[in-house]
Amino acid sequence: MAYRVTLIPGDGTGPEVIEAARRVLEATGIGFEWDVQRAGAEVLKERGTPLPQEVLDSIRANGVGLKGPITTALGTGFRSVNVAIRQRLDLYANLRPAKTIPGVRSRYDNVDLVVVRENTEGLYAGIEHYPIPGEAAESIRLITRAKSERIVRFAFDYVRRHERRKVTAVHKANVLKFSDGLFLQVAREVSDEYPDVEFEDRIVDNMCMQLVQKPELYDVLVCPNLYGDIVSDLTAGLVGGLGVAPGANIGHRLAVFEPVHGSAPKYAGQNRVNPTAAILSGALMLRYLGEKEAAERVERAVAEVIAEGKYVTYDLKEDRDDPTAVGTQEMAEAIISRMK
Ligand code: NAD
Repeated sequence: MAYRVTLIPGDGTGPEVIEAARRVLEATGIGFEWDVQRAGAEVLKERGTPLPQEVLDSIRANGVGLKGPITTALGTGFRSVNVAIRQRLDLYANLRPAKTIPGVRSRYDNVDLVVVRENTEGLYAGIEHYPIPGEAAESIRLITRAKSERIVRFAFDYVRRHERRKVTAVHKANVLKFSDGLFLQVAREVSDEYPDVEFEDRIVDNMCMQLVQKPELYDVLVCPNLYGDIVSDLTAGLVGGLGVAPGANIGHRLAVFEPVHGSAPKYAGQNRVNPTAAILSGALMLRYLGEKEAAERVERAVAEVIAEGKYVTYDLKEDRDDPTAVGTQEMAEAIISRMK
């Protein structure tokens, strides 16, 4: 049986890392039928929308997607296609594990954190306007009980399913008394239903400092949308950077897997960036599909290639200009060889 999966290459360096991930996934021996769908600025020119309906229909029909990053202009232009996919399909939980991979240069050892980011509301709800054009802009940060409850529940269920120990709710309820006040109140209420799981909360600024100083104190962090976006780049930094940070967007019976990083457009078409984040996002997809053994094989091969340090991209070398760094596809080939 082959899994039918929506494949969105994305743009910038997206197509390169997604190609690498596709090849590694195929090398597991598991059958995939790729339903390739395009979205982004080029599609906007051809179709008048950066996110054609058939992309969403394809994910709905297949239930699973693997996605490359898509570029969004700063300040102007269309709203993020990445955010739109999450919102339109109600992929409410953005799961971003940050785990030390031996061999990846980092200031820390033994980091093992998971950021659970609310993916559909908060400051990303897109409720913005100019009360005085050119002079004042207003963005509404919508937080609801229902969406706070389901993301916090997701975090607690994740802890139970993966035999982890603790949930930390991240907020700014000292200042944002209404919106984050509601998020924190709901988190506390939900925590009462999980007496077997430790629960605590942290104010987001303090959370950032504590993660930098003593990441070993934390386990699973549940965050409203914007804090989750920022904190997950921070946790990616703790384990070696965006090149190695995978992610998943999970909803009710639908899931789209994508690296945490963006389209790194300055490297587009150069076969240069690290495919690890996309490949490990593929491994998260294998786990979601119930293919645990294949996922472990991929993760082991990635770890071995990185630990050996020979066939790795520039960002994993001590000197970023090291001429022995290999390209995106060559690193993927080394991972495939290891799996064999
Ligand atoms: P970025 O993640 O593209 O790049 C940030 C830094 O990390 C850059 O120095 C880049 O070179 C490096 N980097 C990123 N991926 C890497 C990889 N695989 N290997 C090695 N180094 C890597 O973030 P940005 O520059 O802020 O954003 C670029 C574009 O991507 C923007 O248009 C943004 O909107 C978009 N973006 C998309 C997504 C998504 O599709 N989910 C996420 C974040 C940003």
